[in-house]
Amino acid sequence: MIQELLAYQQTDARLRAIEQEISGSEERKKTASAKKFLDGVNETAAALEKKAKDLSALYDSLAAAQKELSDTVREIANAVEGCEDTNAAGYLHKKAEELAGRLSGLESRAAALTEEMNGVLSSFAQLRKKTQAAKEQYNEYGRKYKELKQSREGETAAVEKELAELEKAVDPALMARYKAKRKDKMFPVLYEVKGNMCGKCLMELSMADLNRLKTEEVIECDNCRCLLHK
Ligand SMILES: [Zn+2]
Repeated sequence: MIQELLAYQQTDARLRAIEQEISGSEERKKTASAKKFLDGVNETAAALEKKAKDLSALYDSLAAAQKELSDTVREIANAVEGCEDTNAAGYLHKKAEELAGRLSGLESRAAALTEEMNGVLSSFAQLRKKTQAAKEQYNEYGRKYKELKQSREGETAAVEKELAELEKAVDPALMARYKAKRKDKMFPVLYEVKGNMCGKCLMELSMADLNRLKTEEVIECDNCRCLLHK
Protein backbone atom coordinates (compact mmCIF):
# COMPACT_ATOMS: atom_id res chain seq x y z
CA MET A 1 0.00 0.00 0.00
CA ILE A 2 2.86 2.37 0.85
CA GLN A 3 4.57 1.74 -2.48
CA GLU A 4 1.39 2.85 -4.26
CA LEU A 5 1.12 6.02 -2.23
CA LEU A 6 4.80 6.75 -2.83
CA ALA A 7 4.24 6.33 -6.56
CA TYR A 8 1.28 8.69 -6.29
CA GLN A 9 3.40 11.23 -4.40
CA GLN A 10 6.14 11.04 -7.00
CA THR A 11 3.72 11.95 -9.77
CA ASP A 12 2.06 14.50 -7.51
CA ALA A 13 5.44 16.25 -7.30
CA ARG A 14 5.03 17.19 -10.96
CA LEU A 15 1.65 18.75 -10.25
CA ARG A 16 3.11 20.55 -7.27
CA ALA A 17 5.92 21.93 -9.46
CA ILE A 18 3.40 23.39 -11.90
CA GLU A 19 1.37 24.87 -9.03
CA GLN A 20 4.46 26.42 -7.54
CA GLU A 21 5.60 27.82 -10.84
CA ILE A 22 2.22 29.51 -11.23
CA SER A 23 1.90 30.72 -7.65
CA GLY A 24 5.48 31.97 -7.56
CA SER A 25 5.15 33.79 -10.88
CA GLU A 26 5.51 37.52 -11.23
CA GLU A 27 2.16 37.45 -13.03
CA ARG A 28 0.36 36.12 -9.97
CA LYS A 29 2.24 38.25 -7.45
CA LYS A 30 1.64 41.48 -9.33
CA THR A 31 -2.03 40.66 -9.89
CA ALA A 32 -2.46 39.85 -6.21
CA SER A 33 -0.68 42.96 -4.94
CA ALA A 34 -2.74 45.22 -7.22
CA LYS A 35 -5.92 43.50 -6.09
CA LYS A 36 -4.98 43.88 -2.44
CA PHE A 37 -4.41 47.58 -2.95
CA LEU A 38 -7.68 48.06 -4.83
CA ASP A 39 -9.59 46.08 -2.18
CA GLY A 40 -8.34 48.44 0.50
CA VAL A 41 -8.61 51.67 -1.43
CA ASN A 42 -12.15 52.56 -0.33
CA GLU A 43 -11.19 52.13 3.28
CA THR A 44 -8.13 54.33 2.83
CA ALA A 45 -10.19 56.98 1.04
CA ALA A 46 -12.86 56.90 3.75
CA ALA A 47 -10.22 57.34 6.45
CA LEU A 48 -8.76 60.32 4.61
CA GLU A 49 -12.21 61.81 4.13
CA LYS A 50 -12.95 61.47 7.82
CA LYS A 51 -9.65 63.11 8.69
CA ALA A 52 -10.37 66.01 6.30
CA LYS A 53 -13.81 66.48 7.87
CA ASP A 54 -12.43 66.44 11.42
CA LEU A 55 -9.69 68.90 10.52
CA SER A 56 -12.14 71.19 8.82
CA ALA A 57 -14.47 71.20 11.86
CA LEU A 58 -11.52 71.91 14.11
CA TYR A 59 -10.45 74.72 11.83
CA ASP A 60 -13.92 76.28 11.94
CA SER A 61 -14.01 76.24 15.72
CA LEU A 62 -10.52 77.73 15.86
CA ALA A 63 -11.53 80.48 13.45
CA ALA A 64 -14.61 81.30 15.56
CA ALA A 65 -12.52 81.46 18.73
CA GLN A 66 -9.99 83.62 16.92
CA LYS A 67 -12.66 86.06 15.80
CA GLU A 68 -14.15 86.32 19.26
CA LEU A 69 -10.78 86.89 20.83
CA SER A 70 -9.73 89.55 18.36
CA ASP A 71 -13.02 91.39 18.92
CA THR A 72 -12.33 91.39 22.65
CA VAL A 73 -8.77 92.64 22.10
CA ARG A 74 -10.14 95.47 19.99
CA GLU A 75 -12.76 96.39 22.61
CA ILE A 76 -10.13 96.48 25.32
CA ALA A 77 -7.86 98.64 23.18
CA ASN A 78 -10.73 101.09 22.74
CA ALA A 79 -11.42 101.07 26.46
CA VAL A 80 -7.76 101.80 27.23
CA GLU A 81 -7.88 104.82 24.95
CA GLY A 82 -10.75 106.43 26.83
CA CYS A 83 -9.53 105.47 30.27
CA GLU A 84 -8.21 108.20 32.55
CA ASP A 85 -7.48 106.05 35.55
CA THR A 86 -3.81 105.04 35.16
CA ASN A 87 -4.16 101.94 37.29
CA ALA A 88 -7.19 100.71 35.36
CA ALA A 89 -5.49 101.55 32.06
CA GLY A 90 -2.44 99.58 33.13
CA TYR A 91 -4.60 96.60 34.03
CA LEU A 92 -6.48 96.75 30.73
CA HIS A 93 -3.24 97.08 28.84
CA LYS A 94 -1.87 93.98 30.54
CA LYS A 95 -5.10 92.08 29.85
CA ALA A 96 -4.96 93.11 26.19
CA GLU A 97 -1.39 91.86 25.93
CA GLU A 98 -2.31 88.54 27.48
CA LEU A 99 -5.22 88.10 25.07
CA ALA A 100 -3.04 89.07 22.13
CA GLY A 101 -0.64 86.33 23.20
CA ARG A 102 -3.47 83.80 23.24
CA LEU A 103 -4.62 85.07 19.87
CA SER A 104 -1.22 84.56 18.33
CA GLY A 105 -1.19 81.03 19.78
CA LEU A 106 -4.51 80.38 18.07
CA GLU A 107 -3.15 81.76 14.83
CA SER A 108 -0.19 79.44 14.82
CA ARG A 109 -2.46 76.48 15.58
CA ALA A 110 -4.64 77.51 12.63
CA ALA A 111 -1.57 77.71 10.41
CA ALA A 112 -0.46 74.23 11.51
CA LEU A 113 -3.97 72.93 10.81
CA THR A 114 -3.92 74.44 7.33
CA GLU A 115 -0.69 72.66 6.66
CA GLU A 116 -2.16 69.40 7.92
CA MET A 117 -5.19 69.86 5.68
CA ASN A 118 -2.92 70.42 2.70
CA GLY A 119 -1.19 67.17 3.60
CA VAL A 120 -4.53 65.35 3.50
CA LEU A 121 -5.30 66.87 0.11
CA SER A 122 -1.99 65.74 -1.30
CA SER A 123 -2.57 62.25 0.14
CA PHE A 124 -5.87 62.22 -1.74
CA ALA A 125 -4.12 63.15 -4.97
CA GLN A 126 -1.50 60.44 -4.40
CA LEU A 127 -4.18 57.89 -3.64
CA ARG A 128 -5.94 58.69 -6.92
CA LYS A 129 -2.68 58.27 -8.82
CA LYS A 130 -1.84 54.98 -7.09
CA THR A 131 -5.35 53.67 -7.70
CA GLN A 132 -5.04 54.37 -11.39
CA ALA A 133 -1.65 52.63 -11.49
CA ALA A 134 -3.02 49.63 -9.55
CA LYS A 135 -5.94 49.30 -11.97
CA GLU A 136 -3.55 49.26 -14.91
CA GLN A 137 -1.31 46.72 -13.20
CA TYR A 138 -4.28 44.54 -12.31
CA ASN A 139 -5.54 44.53 -15.89
CA GLU A 140 -2.17 43.88 -17.47
CA TYR A 141 -0.92 41.21 -15.07
CA GLY A 142 -4.34 39.67 -14.58
CA ARG A 143 -4.40 38.97 -18.31
CA LYS A 144 -0.83 37.59 -18.26
CA TYR A 145 -1.64 35.44 -15.21
CA LYS A 146 -4.64 33.97 -16.96
CA GLU A 147 -2.50 33.22 -20.01
CA LEU A 148 0.12 31.55 -17.84
CA LYS A 149 -2.49 29.31 -16.22
CA GLN A 150 -3.98 28.46 -19.58
CA SER A 151 -0.56 27.56 -20.94
CA ARG A 152 -0.22 24.93 -18.17
CA GLU A 153 -3.71 23.53 -18.44
CA GLY A 154 -2.80 20.67 -20.78
CA GLU A 155 0.10 19.54 -18.63
CA THR A 156 -1.94 19.85 -15.45
CA ALA A 157 -4.78 17.77 -16.89
CA ALA A 158 -2.35 15.07 -18.02
CA VAL A 159 -0.77 14.77 -14.55
CA GLU A 160 -4.18 14.81 -12.89
CA LYS A 161 -5.27 11.95 -15.13
CA GLU A 162 -2.19 9.95 -14.13
CA LEU A 163 -2.90 10.71 -10.48
CA ALA A 164 -6.49 9.53 -10.82
CA GLU A 165 -5.16 6.22 -12.16
CA LEU A 166 -2.57 5.85 -9.40
CA GLU A 167 -5.12 6.72 -6.73
CA LYS A 168 -7.14 3.60 -7.50
CA ALA A 169 -4.41 1.44 -5.97
CA VAL A 170 -4.24 3.43 -2.71
CA ASP A 171 -6.36 2.77 0.37
CA PRO A 172 -9.09 5.48 0.36
CA ALA A 173 -8.66 6.37 4.04
CA LEU A 174 -4.92 6.82 3.59
CA MET A 175 -5.52 8.79 0.41
CA ALA A 176 -7.87 11.11 2.27
CA ARG A 177 -5.24 11.76 4.96
CA TYR A 178 -2.66 12.46 2.28
CA LYS A 179 -4.95 14.81 0.39
CA ALA A 180 -5.92 16.79 3.50
CA LYS A 181 -2.27 17.51 4.22
CA ARG A 182 -1.50 18.25 0.61
CA LYS A 183 -4.35 20.75 0.65
CA ASP A 184 -2.72 22.41 3.64
CA LYS A 185 0.28 23.01 1.38
CA MET A 186 2.39 20.26 2.89
CA PHE A 187 4.67 18.55 0.39
CA PRO A 188 6.03 15.94 0.39
CA VAL A 189 3.41 14.49 2.71
CA LEU A 190 4.87 11.02 3.18
CA TYR A 191 8.35 10.48 4.61
CA GLU A 192 10.36 7.48 5.56
CA VAL A 193 11.33 7.10 9.22
CA LYS A 194 15.04 7.77 9.72
CA GLY A 195 16.16 5.31 12.40
CA ASN A 196 13.98 6.42 15.32
CA MET A 197 13.48 9.94 13.99
CA CYS A 198 10.93 11.64 11.76
CA GLY A 199 12.36 11.76 8.25
CA LYS A 200 11.18 15.33 7.80
CA CYS A 201 11.77 17.27 11.01
CA LEU A 202 14.21 14.79 12.62
CA MET A 203 12.28 14.80 15.88
CA GLU A 204 12.83 11.63 17.88
CA LEU A 205 9.75 9.42 17.83
CA SER A 206 8.16 8.24 21.07
CA MET A 207 8.27 4.61 22.11
CA ALA A 208 4.54 4.43 21.51
CA ASP A 209 4.94 5.70 17.94
CA LEU A 210 7.77 3.27 17.23
CA ASN A 211 5.61 0.46 18.55
CA ARG A 212 2.69 1.57 16.42
CA LEU A 213 4.92 1.46 13.36
CA LYS A 214 5.34 -2.26 13.96
CA THR A 215 1.65 -2.85 13.36
CA GLU A 216 0.55 0.21 11.35
CA GLU A 217 1.92 1.16 8.00
CA VAL A 218 1.64 4.89 8.48
CA ILE A 219 1.80 7.13 11.52
CA GLU A 220 1.77 10.88 11.87
CA CYS A 221 4.68 12.87 13.29
CA ASP A 222 3.56 14.64 16.50
CA ASN A 223 5.81 17.55 15.71
CA CYS A 224 5.49 18.36 11.99
CA ARG A 225 2.30 16.34 11.26
CA CYS A 226 3.78 14.65 8.19
CA LEU A 227 2.94 11.01 7.46
CA LEU A 228 5.67 8.53 8.27
CA HIS A 229 6.30 4.99 7.04
CA LYS A 230 8.98 2.43 7.80
ZN1 LIG B 1 8.25 15.36 11.85
